[in-house]
Amino acid sequence: MNQEFLDKLVQTLGKDTVIVEPAEVEPWLTDWRGVYKGGAQAVVRPASTRQVADCLRLCNEYRVPVVPRGGNTGLCGGATPDASPANVVLSLDRMNSIRSIDTIANTLVADAGCILGNLRRAAQDAGRMLPLSLAAEDSSQIGGNIATNAGGVNVVRYGMARELVLGIEAVLPNGDIFNGLQTLRKDNTGYDLKQLFIGSEGTLGVVTGVALKLYPSAQVRSVVLAAVNSPRQALELLRLVYGACGARLQAFEFFTDECLSLVLAQVEGMQQPFDERHGGYVLIELADTADEAALQALLEDVIGRALEQGLCQDAAVSASLAQLQALWRLREEISEAQRADGPHLKHDISLPIERIPEFIETAERRLRTVSPDCRLFIFGHFGDGNLHYNVSRPEGADKGWAKEWEGRIADTVFAEVAEYGGSISAEHGIGQLKRHAFHHHKDSMQIRLMLQIKQIFDPNSIMNPGKLL
Ligand SMILES: Cc1cc2nc3c(=O)[nH]c(=O)nc-3n(C[C@H](O)[C@H](O)[C@H](O)COP(=O)(O)OP(=O)(O)OC[C@H]3O[C@@H](n4cnc5c(N)ncnc54)[C@H](O)[C@@H]3O)c2cc1C
Repeated sequence: MNQEFLDKLVQTLGKDTVIVEPAEVEPWLTDWRGVYKGGAQAVVRPASTRQVADCLRLCNEYRVPVVPRGGNTGLCGGATPDASPANVVLSLDRMNSIRSIDTIANTLVADAGCILGNLRRAAQDAGRMLPLSLAAEDSSQIGGNIATNAGGVNVVRYGMARELVLGIEAVLPNGDIFNGLQTLRKDNTGYDLKQLFIGSEGTLGVVTGVALKLYPSAQVRSVVLAAVNSPRQALELLRLVYGACGARLQAFEFFTDECLSLVLAQVEGMQQPFDERHGGYVLIELADTADEAALQALLEDVIGRALEQGLCQDAAVSASLAQLQALWRLREEISEAQRADGPHLKHDISLPIERIPEFIETAERRLRTVSPDCRLFIFGHFGDGNLHYNVSRPEGADKGWAKEWEGRIADTVFAEVAEYGGSISAEHGIGQLKRHAFHHHKDSMQIRLMLQIKQIFDPNSIMNPGKLL
């Protein structure tokens, strides 16, 4: 701890903005899952971009490491400081104002600390939609979503966070403000530098403001849960549904029967969707701006064809909003059910979509040679080629199993992902969890370029040490 630095920090930002009491700092030092724990001399909660700049300038001067923190829902330990007691955790939670919503340009500009769910509701109130949507949206912040290039359930139609960003305001480690908060749809003036902040996981600077694209409100939604006997059937179903519904296809989510069993066992009030159990389930959502009856008819028609052609075994179409929400809960509660079950080894991977079924088969074979009785929970954003390939302890094994096996299991899964030309991180990022694997699997020339970019933005390496690079 550097008292001179702390005194200056408090003097510059004010007592209300800087937390230094160890007992008050403590709650900011762990991640959402409780897997990581770090140290820090202070937590700073700036209320403006100017205060972020003042904080970073001082940290840079004193070479104090800074860990940007959004909603702390990241699953890779990115917002958790390392063990050093010198860290400063910089939380954006007080920067939570919406700066503007424009329903002609279809844009929303907000502080980085705004909770994603609040932005989605504000857009909805203005008759527009912010399509970025994930199970953690009522805790995660838009700055964190941008810093991790979040995905979520609507990527199949609207793309990842990156595709929704028009502009970014950020503070560089030396306190300079990157004024890129524009809402232009077109700007071909050289390198698009804002892209560097997207997915940078707090290693290049602190995102303080974001300009996002809005879309017409998808007033009308229809959901079906289709039972399939295998991932191969799910793939054929995707081909049929996309061909028939095109841009109306808003989500195509897959989960195995093991995931359903876990949700039914761990989450209160959940109901079996079908009389019989099946190999897997696909949750399909169609959305449109108008004509509910036509959308429902389209969904029923396409599912009818799928049943006829043997591309699914059974189907439950939502007939009301309550049923739609109940079907979605079966998918959305999987993460909570895993948390209740105990530590799960999470692998957020992406693959060429057409090879997912083959991957699921060969990865399991390979994994069983390492740990014959481990339990697999496979689910995810199938329509984007993104699987959450999660592994847990064998029945009867104690909860320490995950710690003991995580390295071997991850090496095995990632080796298989590499064989298929996939990615070891689809949407959760690298953080501290995947740093080793990232350096092992990422092309060395690309890592070299990233290090050079890091050096330009952050020559004193104060931003989020021990994460990503
Ligand atoms: C139940 C559950 C479901 C989830 N589902 C999904 C999903 O479907 N898709 C998906 O992509 N993710 C998902 N996640 C992961 C997580 O919600 C996302 O990664 C989210 O984008 C993180 O946002 P956050 O505000 O919580 O960031 P944090 O966890 O606080 O931080 C994440 C990283 O971003 C950096 N950071 C945060 N704010 C800033 C900022 N303003 N400037 C610079 N760097 C910053 C941090 O240093 C850290 O490296 C899920 C998480 C949970 C718990």
